[in-house]
Amino acid sequence: MFHKILIANRGEIALRVLRAAKELGIQTVAVHSTADADAMHVRLADESVCIGPPPSRDSYLNIHQILAACEITGADAVHPGYGFLSENAKFSEILAAHNLTFIGPSADHIRIMGDKITAKKTVKELGIPVVPGSDGAVTDDVEAKRIAADIGYPVLIKASAGGGGRGMKVAKTEADLAEALSTARSEAGAAFGDDAVYIEKYLEKPRHIEVQVMGDGAGKAIHLGERDCSLQRRHQKVWEEANSPALNVEQRNRIGEIVSKAIADLGYSGAGTIEFLYENGEFYFIEMNTRLQVEHPVTEAITGIDLVHEQIRVASGGGLSCTQDEVRFEGHAIECRINAEDPRTFTPSPGTISHFHTPGGLGIRVDSGVYSGYRIPPYYDSLIGKLIVHGRNRVECMMRLRRALDEFVVDGIKTTLPLFQDLVGNPDIANGDYDIHWLENYLAKTS
Ligand code: ADP
Repeated sequence: MFHKILIANRGEIALRVLRAAKELGIQTVAVHSTADADAMHVRLADESVCIGPPPSRDSYLNIHQILAACEITGADAVHPGYGFLSENAKFSEILAAHNLTFIGPSADHIRIMGDKITAKKTVKELGIPVVPGSDGAVTDDVEAKRIAADIGYPVLIKASAGGGGRGMKVAKTEADLAEALSTARSEAGAAFGDDAVYIEKYLEKPRHIEVQVMGDGAGKAIHLGERDCSLQRRHQKVWEEANSPALNVEQRNRIGEIVSKAIADLGYSGAGTIEFLYENGEFYFIEMNTRLQVEHPVTEAITGIDLVHEQIRVASGGGLSCTQDEVRFEGHAIECRINAEDPRTFTPSPGTISHFHTPGGLGIRVDSGVYSGYRIPPYYDSLIGKLIVHGRNRVECMMRLRRALDEFVVDGIKTTLPLFQDLVGNPDIANGDYDIHWLENYLAKTS
């Protein structure tokens, strides 16, 4: 087992990782920018190192500074959290070259899944269903026309290097195709330095359903069920639940088996998420994330498995703590992402939290690094906490969520809490009847 883990992140996820390390009896090192000197994870860590000024590129993305912090403190492993360096293959290679363990998958797997064309080709060969589309990058407009006509309009042009919903363009008919291709190429080139694009069938009313996996890196893998993350705004997830209200046990087991077999065959190590769009009973792979995700606690709630413990165990060579047969899915869980944003316009609302009071009681978990008197720095993303609620079934979970939202107090800044209070009382949400466009349509109707 590791002796000391350096946590290369900030905010709620840094605290989340710190808690898991403490439970396992591992020493913790927090790194922070000058803007985060009084953050909770810094206060609670055994040691902390300031790694630079507020901009991320000078601190949380600064590999030299993070390496120096490992050296000064004698850390033997690094947990990257999500975002920042978590999907940076180079970072994991540099750590390995310095005899440090990156708590995550191999650099090769990060690289394969970081390029969407290669990812799609790889998972297709492993037996995972993918969205119909071009076999690889499309460089020629005549060929593009032929492919789009074959799969049928509307089609979506996507950037191979894409992320955060950027570099995606819909072509409703052949008349839109040339422009969609050239806009997607130039957006992708500008944003990612790689203008390779590919074509996919545009699914009109899908749900976003993702499967959580854990591999031991030696040919064993398990799945931990799915999460439904269809409630999105600008391709950003807002509310996530496990299990998906749209799947039954048979469908869950079927996709879970396909995915865990593929991940085992790949020899994948650590936590990963296979994201699908789900429409008319069919799953279509869109991408794989080779890291822990923001919404991982809903999976923890229904399985009782601590995913960060599991990541640390696997990275230290201890293998998985359980077999597929031992994984049980119990009850229902929902996560609300509480952002420091206006609940309608979503404009960031940094500032000082004058009062912070979190709900409690059976089935309630709050993962947050903020506290009364905490000043939210304006340099980073606006997630200030996650409310995760568990119940024996979805109805009980929703009752508890409504009650917990009423108890939650965040004064001094605007937050997205009022949005969740609206959603929890909405009949479509109560019925689990929503797709990836539902939230944007709802916001447009009610603004
Ligand atoms: P990114 O890495 O930029 O987030 P993804 O491939 O994960 O890109 O897609 C993000 C979102 O875009 C999905 O959750 C879905 O809302 C939408 N999307 C992606 N591919 C398709 C498709 N083929 N048809 C319809 N919507 C899609």
